[in-house]
Amino acid sequence: MDMVGVIGAGQMGSGIAQTVAQRGIEVLLCDVDLALAEKAKAKIEKVLARLVEKEKISAADASATLGRIVPVADYAPMAGAGIIIEAATEREDIKRAIFAKAGEVLGADAILASNTSSIPITRMAAGTADPARFIGLHFFNPVPLMQLIEVIPGLATSPDTVARTRAFAESLGKQVVMSGDEPGFVVNRILLPMINEACFVLGQGTASAADIDKGARLGLNHPMGPLELADFIGLDTCLEIVKVIFASTGDSKYRPAPLLAKYVDAGWLGRKTGRGFYDYSGEVPVPSV
Ligand code: NAD
Repeated sequence: MDMVGVIGAGQMGSGIAQTVAQRGIEVLLCDVDLALAEKAKAKIEKVLARLVEKEKISAADASATLGRIVPVADYAPMAGAGIIIEAATEREDIKRAIFAKAGEVLGADAILASNTSSIPITRMAAGTADPARFIGLHFFNPVPLMQLIEVIPGLATSPDTVARTRAFAESLGKQVVMSGDEPGFVVNRILLPMINEACFVLGQGTASAADIDKGARLGLNHPMGPLELADFIGLDTCLEIVKVIFASTGDSKYRPAPLLAKYVDAGWLGRKTGRGFYDYSGEVPVPSV
């Protein structure tokens, strides 16, 4: 793979762009406008500078990596990309519009991959010109550090697309788990009900946010409690995933916790907005309420 298009330059798109560029591949990075894509590149520059300070990479590697990331205003420059990875906001209408537009410029062999956390791959593929080249490629946050990628073929995805996508994921130095196209795939199907339940526990006043997370860290040996992790993922993303799993299974055990919806209504989306279940404005995160 010589060139990769990344659409959506938020937490995930930036991490994907950095990871791909660190493997020597050129990345075209796009968001709703050029300024956002450039802002994402500036953030990646800071991340790389910290890695140089910590002597994890050389200054020459950092500058070569950065040089491979090209912010673009639209999809036209992606015509030669071997794969485009969509990492935009977790909303089906947004993703469908992106794939429709990208499909107009991409080459006949290009793979269309979505980093969606929960939206059915088969359904999104059906809205594209060639569903055989559509696949789920689900990275974990933060992408440069997390080892796992889930690969999710839809019903119409061709074996060739699966093989090429898997090879691409492994070429990034990641481990692959294959998942059927079921709500939440594998990891989020397990994780999101836990995060959602932690929101019920907090909402019902059973324990404080700090104690819920301490319970999971010390009682379950998790490196991070469910509320800290939710802040890390983004509470809007968590809510959307739970809603998708609930809507597609119809099982009331997945109903979104009212407190999670309330935090999203307040714009408290977690680390990315500086406040979620914890407040990140000081040196050390403190519980929000
Ligand atoms: P984010 O809010 O940090 O970033 C989303 C980005 O998409 C924003 O920069 C936004 O401007 C951009 N965007 C919105 N509409 C767009 C459009 N039409 N064209 C181009 N860009 C557009 O969210 P995120 O955490 O990076 O999540 C992005 C995707 O990755 C979601 O599908 C999410 O489910 C998935 N995901 C998230 C995580 C996580 O832990 N946060 C993990 C795996 C997968």
